[in-house]
Amino acid sequence: MRFEIKERDGLARVGTLEIDGVKHETPAVAYATTQARPAGSLGLSSAGGGSPGDLVVARSGFDGGDDTDAHLRPGFRGSRYAPVGPEGAFHVLSDPAALLLDSSAFADAIEAAKGPENLMRPVYLSSAALPHRLALLAYCGIDVLDSVAISMASENGMYLTNSGILDHGRLKALPCSCPACISGKRGKAELLAHNQTAAEDELRHVRHAIAEGRLRELVEARVRADPWLVQDLRLLDIKHYPLLEMHAPVKGAPFHAGSKESLARPEVRRWRQRLEARYMRPPAARILLLIPCSAKKPYSMSKSHMRFRDAVVSSGAADAVHEVIVTSPLGLVPRELELLYPAQDYDIPVTGHWDRDEKKLAEEMVTWLVESQRYDAVISHLGDEREPVNQVLRDFTDTSEGNPGSRESMKRLEEALRQHATGGPDTRHDRWTEDMRSRCRFQFGEPGERLCDGALVQGRYPNLRITKGGTQLGMLTGDRGLVSLTMDGGRALAPTGAYTVETEDFELKGNLFAVGVKKAAPEIRVGDDVVIAHGGDVRGVGVARMCSAEMDLAERGEAVRVRHAK
Ligand SMILES: [Zn+2]
Repeated sequence: MRFEIKERDGLARVGTLEIDGVKHETPAVAYATTQARPAGSLGLSSAGGGSPGDLVVARSGFDGGDDTDAHLRPGFRGSRYAPVGPEGAFHVLSDPAALLLDSSAFADAIEAAKGPENLMRPVYLSSAALPHRLALLAYCGIDVLDSVAISMASENGMYLTNSGILDHGRLKALPCSCPACISGKRGKAELLAHNQTAAEDELRHVRHAIAEGRLRELVEARVRADPWLVQDLRLLDIKHYPLLEMHAPVKGAPFHAGSKESLARPEVRRWRQRLEARYMRPPAARILLLIPCSAKKPYSMSKSHMRFRDAVVSSGAADAVHEVIVTSPLGLVPRELELLYPAQDYDIPVTGHWDRDEKKLAEEMVTWLVESQRYDAVISHLGDEREPVNQVLRDFTDTSEGNPGSRESMKRLEEALRQHATGGPDTRHDRWTEDMRSRCRFQFGEPGERLCDGALVQGRYPNLRITKGGTQLGMLTGDRGLVSLTMDGGRALAPTGAYTVETEDFELKGNLFAVGVKKAAPEIRVGDDVVIAHGGDVRGVGVARMCSAEMDLAERGEAVRVRHAK
């Protein structure tokens, strides 16, 4: 048996499970071979029966030692009397019935399944696969499930869909066009065939969402079918954020932040945590200007923000003004970070009313900003969104009344800025370098500031180059929103060890594979720009395709897609 991971989206993965030369794409349901099952599906048989390519279960936990060909042994399910599984075999979640009734235990079991000793193994869960649960189970990194729940539901007259369970007997017309549903027969065989089709259809949906990096959105929609699932997701978010964050990409797909759970999405929570852990305002930006977000992203391309910008520029204080956008679910976005994921990649339903959680978030973030960044003056230009923010501000000027984009509001804003505009650095490039320093610090942590020491920032926003003494160290690109390192940039960062992948001693040809990684810096996430080095010698720079934990553990697969090599 061989398991290879092809695509990652957080803990979820699309993989290939190869048994006896027969390949199956995961996440997959393994169907008991004693029943009719979908053509080409993964079979589940007991040792001694079945055919090549089936997933084989040992006959008993106590004589499991005899069934040497078995991929799954009941002993793996946590029996104290049976041996633990060998390296490379499945990690089996024990006691599935209890996990389905206890969300806290379920979340803990996922944490254990994704620890270093199990991370690279396929994860197996029995008795849980119903179509509406598959998105969440895949999101938790479960790779193979069995057909037990589908068979039982069919026996009990349950008609399964990806949005929940219907009573087959009460359906006047079947809401599906699969061959079994349009056959005109309503027997047990047709119900089982439909339920299996519903599961297979949903698995294709889930695999597509993983490949697109959009599984979380599908999960937030599907969990509505069952309060238990909402509970599972929320507890996972609350209790196991470090695990989810470690696997969340730093540049992912755009998403809709449309549910309460979106506020706790790992990428969203990481944004707020990184602000608090890493952020320092550009020193010249001593006048804080709080403005509302715009539907169009990046914000600076929206009409409303272009008007704010006009007022800032005409005040003559542009270099001293720090524009900070107040928004849900991110809380705050300093203007210079507006291209960083997910600041230009989210959509929210806009009603003009913030709920209690959003208000609390805005209050906390603004309080943190003014206390930690120490501005000379604060201007609030938020219109309808002023309420949660203004009440936590002390000395400040409110320049928006009614519509923050109105001519009168703009005039008031310009006037207030003009009053505060004295001093500050002289040249435009200074502020550009300071803004870039802030981005580098947010992306690479404090060591990132080295990229901007004595550097010049040039170009046309959003595509900006960082140069020093005629050599380029990095470049900010608008679509990625991150600074891409050059070899010289890599050399500036490498002495700190930050975002560095230490390799064995070999010449880098093509991309870096996990087998060549000796040790990866713990802060590396999928999508990060990283330095490849051996004993202080920079061998290349590129984009991480795995998080550091996986780079250290994996024996196969691309660890870094190389941009430049020595
Ligand atoms: Zn059907």
